[in-house]
Amino acid sequence: MRKQVGQGRRTQEALRQSEERFRLLVAHALDAVITIDVQGRITSWNPQAERLFGWAQEEVLGRLLSETIIPPTYRDAHERGLARFRATGEGPVLDRRIELTALHRNGTEFPVELAITPMRSGKTVLFSAFLRDITEAKRAEESRRQSEASFRLLFTSNPLPMWVYDVATMAFLEVNAAAVANYGYSREEFLGMRITDIRPPEEVPRLEAALTGLGAEADPTVRRHAGTWTHRLKDGRIRDVDIISHAIDFAGRRAALVVAIDVTELRQTQASLAKSTERLRILHEIDRALIAAEAPGAIAEAVLRRLRDLLGVPRAIVNLFDLATGEAEWLAAAGRRRIRLGPGVRFPLSLMGDVEALRRGEPQVIDVAALPRGPDAEALLASGVHTYMVVPMIAGGELIGGLSFGGAPGEFTAEQIGIAQEVAAQLAIALAQARLHERVKRQAEELEQRVQARTRELSTANDQLQREVAERQRAEAEADRANRAKSEFLSRMSHELRTPLNAILGFAQLLELEVERPADRESVEQIAKGGRHLLTLINEILDIARIEAGQLPLSPEPVRVGDAIQRVLDLARPLAAARRIELESDGAALHPQHVWADQQRLQQVLLNLVSNGIKYNRDAGRLTVACDAAEADRIRISVKDTGSGIAPALREHLFQPFDRLGAEQHGVEGTGLGLALSKRLVEAMGGTIGVESVPSEGSTFWVEFLRAESPIERLARTEPSPAVLAAPVELDGTVLYVEDNLSNLRLVERTLALRPGVKLIPAMQGRLGLALAQQHRPDLILLDLHLPDISGEQVLRELHVDPGLRQTPVVVLSADATPGQVQRLLAAGVRAYLTKPLDVRQLLALLDEVLRTGNA
Ligand code: ADP
Repeated sequence: MRKQVGQGRRTQEALRQSEERFRLLVAHALDAVITIDVQGRITSWNPQAERLFGWAQEEVLGRLLSETIIPPTYRDAHERGLARFRATGEGPVLDRRIELTALHRNGTEFPVELAITPMRSGKTVLFSAFLRDITEAKRAEESRRQSEASFRLLFTSNPLPMWVYDVATMAFLEVNAAAVANYGYSREEFLGMRITDIRPPEEVPRLEAALTGLGAEADPTVRRHAGTWTHRLKDGRIRDVDIISHAIDFAGRRAALVVAIDVTELRQTQASLAKSTERLRILHEIDRALIAAEAPGAIAEAVLRRLRDLLGVPRAIVNLFDLATGEAEWLAAAGRRRIRLGPGVRFPLSLMGDVEALRRGEPQVIDVAALPRGPDAEALLASGVHTYMVVPMIAGGELIGGLSFGGAPGEFTAEQIGIAQEVAAQLAIALAQARLHERVKRQAEELEQRVQARTRELSTANDQLQREVAERQRAEAEADRANRAKSEFLSRMSHELRTPLNAILGFAQLLELEVERPADRESVEQIAKGGRHLLTLINEILDIARIEAGQLPLSPEPVRVGDAIQRVLDLARPLAAARRIELESDGAALHPQHVWADQQRLQQVLLNLVSNGIKYNRDAGRLTVACDAAEADRIRISVKDTGSGIAPALREHLFQPFDRLGAEQHGVEGTGLGLALSKRLVEAMGGTIGVESVPSEGSTFWVEFLRAESPIERLARTEPSPAVLAAPVELDGTVLYVEDNLSNLRLVERTLALRPGVKLIPAMQGRLGLALAQQHRPDLILLDLHLPDISGEQVLRELHVDPGLRQTPVVVLSADATPGQVQRLLAAGVRAYLTKPLDVRQLLALLDEVLRTGNA
């Protein structure tokens, strides 16, 4: 017993120590440790349990475990388990690691790992439960599970072929469904193959080299490779593949996970895109060359090299066809080797195939081997061309050339043909245009050359012309000089001749009075007659010479026709009487009309015509001076005789100097100068002269002059009424007017009628004027410069040397308004210079002024 007791004590002590150890163990355990009795009541609760469930030990001791940490849904199962253990001493959950859901004091549920161990102490059975929160572990596991699942999903159902291979052996370790589908091998076949088996043999060395590099990589986890490879499918098809490869660890082996992207189509699309871009570029290049107006050769050169590369052939040539000669000409070429130099080489058109087919637009394929042996075929073979295609170039329906390309024997692809045709068509247009352009340019150049040649010709002709003009001017100047010399000579000669002639005529007249013997008288008469003839001759020659030298002073003014005719008739009357010729005047209605002429020269012409009409008339004939209106406001004065008339053949000689038409033989006196001088005078006055004659009936000589307004008419038209022109004061005095033109005389007469106190003395000749001046001592002298006997300037000079007349104011009235003349006379002491047609108001003002000062 003691022993028992002692044993019991020892046992108790041991138990106590063991419990204490257990307690410490439990208190420091990492897991929550809970003990319960068979009723399920909590008997111990360590600090971890406190932390894990939120309950303090003292709160839970004695509580049912199920109510404390088991969520209500699991409580029944827990109670049933305990009950079964109580009944059978067995429990399926005992001594095992189980997982279940626990409840925290705050109501949250969480997964725990649990191991329940029954502890028997005598009859008492306790259960100790070790619990561990496995929320984290659970979560980690879940995520691993999920990531694995997604990887699987990614791998197996990836549409891109994927595989894993052993880096060391290159054996396939895993492949996905896409790989199986794309490459044609089954999974099993794959797993028996190496990655080199899906490559064409030529790719293998590159692959092996790449793998060696891969193996040398230091950190296998970060390796990732990408690259493009060529793969061979089971059926032998070759594909372009982009590869992305990741180094991975596969069941402890160094492996690579590969994603393969088949880029064959993509590459093809890219290539064809590049090709079509290049095609467009070539066409564009042709356009550009065309627009830049490049020569045909340059246009072809610009694109041939690119075209050749695009076609993928060693050689491309553009030839132009000369269908007429049956030859083709090499325009431009791009090729590996140039066998012949430069464009311009000609060869038979037969090398281009069937020309008729080309004309229809059909490309020709030529097998060089089938061509006749010759340098052309040899040259082609030497440049690596065994087969070539000729694509026709047709512009405007005309076959202008061919685009040839070729190389190794073989078929031409539809694409090559398409490209070549497209380029040939464009080139044809461009070349045709360029040729046209060149033609136009050539023509323009030719034209330019022709223009230049013509310009040279013209300039030569022009030089010639200028030389001729200069020559003519020189000749004219020479002629002028000669003319001047001639008229100078004539005027000097006439002066020299006139002086002795005056003596001859003067003494002849004296002798006429003295000699008594009839024979002597006749001699003297002959001398006088000869002298007069000579004087007329000299005067007429002098006039003609002056007219021709343009030196005959003319003073045209309105001349009253009736006055002119009357004066001539008066002068001719004695001559007519001697021949018993009746003088008549006709057309008196026109006598008041005026013509524009020099009064004295008109007189001279008319006198000449009238004296001819008498001289060449028959005795007791008739001479009529008529006046008619002629065309274009002209007045015709005609002199009609009843002489023998003039033969038509002779008429053209009438007006030539010294041609007397045989009159000299009939003893009619004359110089043969009268009509020649008349014609020149009439024309110098703007008139015309002519003759009509009926042989044996008589001749009619006529002159025509422009009708002129008479000074009186003009006065009536332009001047104000006499009342306006009336004198401001009563004036008287004497005015001498030296003037041979009756019209002017009448005008001045009318004008002076406005000054009743003034007396007008007219003088129609210079000498008469001088005599009247000396006799009447007028207060004013009006002087015309153009007088029949002496010139007005001569009158002026003589007035100036006469002491009695020197102070008398002289006013010149002249038709000559040349400034030089006006200045000269004003300088010579003339009071004023009035020009005709006369300004009556001006004349009156002058008259008033002069007479008023004279009266004062
Ligand atoms: P001139 O009378 O001095 O010979 P003209 O020049 O006046 O010279 O005339 C030239 C010539 O014309 C005259 O010689 C004369 O033969 C001819 N002739 C002139 N007037 C007449 C006329 N009215 N009738 C016939 N013949 C005339």
